[in-house]
Amino acid sequence: MPTRYGTTPWLHRVPASRVPAFPRFRGAHTADVVIVGGGLTACAAAYMCAAADLTTVLLERDRLGQGQTARSAGWLTPDPGPAFREVASRHGLRAARRVFEAWRRGALEGAALLRRLRVQCHLDPRDTVVAAARGAQEKLLRREYGARHAGGLDVAWLTERQVQGRMRLEASGALKMADGFALDPYRACLGLAVAAARREAAVFERSRVSAVRFTRRHADVVAEGGTIRTRRVIVATGSATAEFKALQRHFTPREAYGVLTEPMPAGMRRQIGDPRAALADLHVPPHHVRWADGDRLLVIGADQNEPPERTRAAAVVQRTNELMYELLTLYPGIYGLRPAYGWDAPYGATADGLMYIGAHRNFPHHLFALGGGAVSVTGAFVAARLLLRAVQGTPEPADEVFSWTR
Ligand SMILES: Cc1cc2nc3c(=O)[nH]c(=O)nc-3n(C[C@H](O)[C@H](O)[C@H](O)COP(=O)(O)OP(=O)(O)OC[C@H]3O[C@@H](n4cnc5c(N)ncnc54)[C@H](O)[C@@H]3O)c2cc1C
Repeated sequence: MPTRYGTTPWLHRVPASRVPAFPRFRGAHTADVVIVGGGLTACAAAYMCAAADLTTVLLERDRLGQGQTARSAGWLTPDPGPAFREVASRHGLRAARRVFEAWRRGALEGAALLRRLRVQCHLDPRDTVVAAARGAQEKLLRREYGARHAGGLDVAWLTERQVQGRMRLEASGALKMADGFALDPYRACLGLAVAAARREAAVFERSRVSAVRFTRRHADVVAEGGTIRTRRVIVATGSATAEFKALQRHFTPREAYGVLTEPMPAGMRRQIGDPRAALADLHVPPHHVRWADGDRLLVIGADQNEPPERTRAAAVVQRTNELMYELLTLYPGIYGLRPAYGWDAPYGATADGLMYIGAHRNFPHHLFALGGGAVSVTGAFVAARLLLRAVQGTPEPADEVFSWTR
């Protein structure tokens, strides 16, 4: 089968007839909360707001879940991306602990919510293993382990023998964390949208928001088809879009790449590590590798600054080959394995690798959930919970660590 470039398995595998369709927005409305965007973050927030009896409207400019959500690795990690030591040195030890604790809780709560709602998204527990090569990488990772351990985080160290035994990988040591999950992020997103609609959230597709006008008392969300008056606008558009130009300086447009291999024959599978553990390494940029479908490998990495539009398609082919080669250097046993899908994943990288979640003083009535920096979809659940607290006026002190003023 030839490689499918530019599309992701998550999108490709849901037949059009099984994708729930939502109407276009029409008319003038009022709502307690208006959510701009229709990815996993927006749909999780819509469900939580609707379940809290807030009248909720969600406006997606295109189709639900087809942005970053469908391009992510489908990895609900307990790990926010940047190293604990990095977050601690930028923001202090207490803030770092709060970020990591929020992420672990976000992964567990996200998985619990999807299970409770019986969303069919192939949710499956995975440990996270971060492996280091001998030398500088090992030194760095041991320090990271020491800092996390001293910070009270739930983390274990795997010795060289343990990593080789479990992951079948040449590495001199690794961090191991529990509380992660693999999932199909697109199905998770659609499932949450359907659950939100069941709770009477009004969900609209093909309804782009072009502006939000605000006074001291309220905001008017101007969308294709009409305007909605509200006290709270949640902006969950992945990164800062043209409608929020003033915020774009906080994000660097980056592009990661993803590859899903064709199925591995049984002999090859035995040479790859434990299917219940997802692997990250300290390569620059890092690789994130996990099993998918029980017999394939999924790898995300090869991040670079966003290429110009005219070279985009060529970059996908080139980076797919690069990722396959790098996968082969990690697992020589996969020699001959071909990519089934290769895709690009644009995202807005923040300076410290953390999302911005919460209010911004220049945008009254707005709450934002933007940015990120690796592969995880945990931020969607962290953000949705935090935003609901903000809407209800019951923030927790720990929420500050994701603020625009951190
Ligand atoms: C390479 C990569 C790295 C990532 N890194 C991290 C990370 O480190 N941490 C983390 O938590 N998450 C990260 N993510 C994101 C993670 O995938 C998301 O948390 C999750 O998928 C949810 O995405 P989202 O809903 O925030 O954005 P998206 O899925 O992109 O959804 C945004 C939606 O908004 C819509 N939209 C945009 N403008 C408008 C408008 N004007 N009107 C109406 N709708 C509009 C878009 O069409 C889109 O559907 C990353 C994703 C990728 C691809």
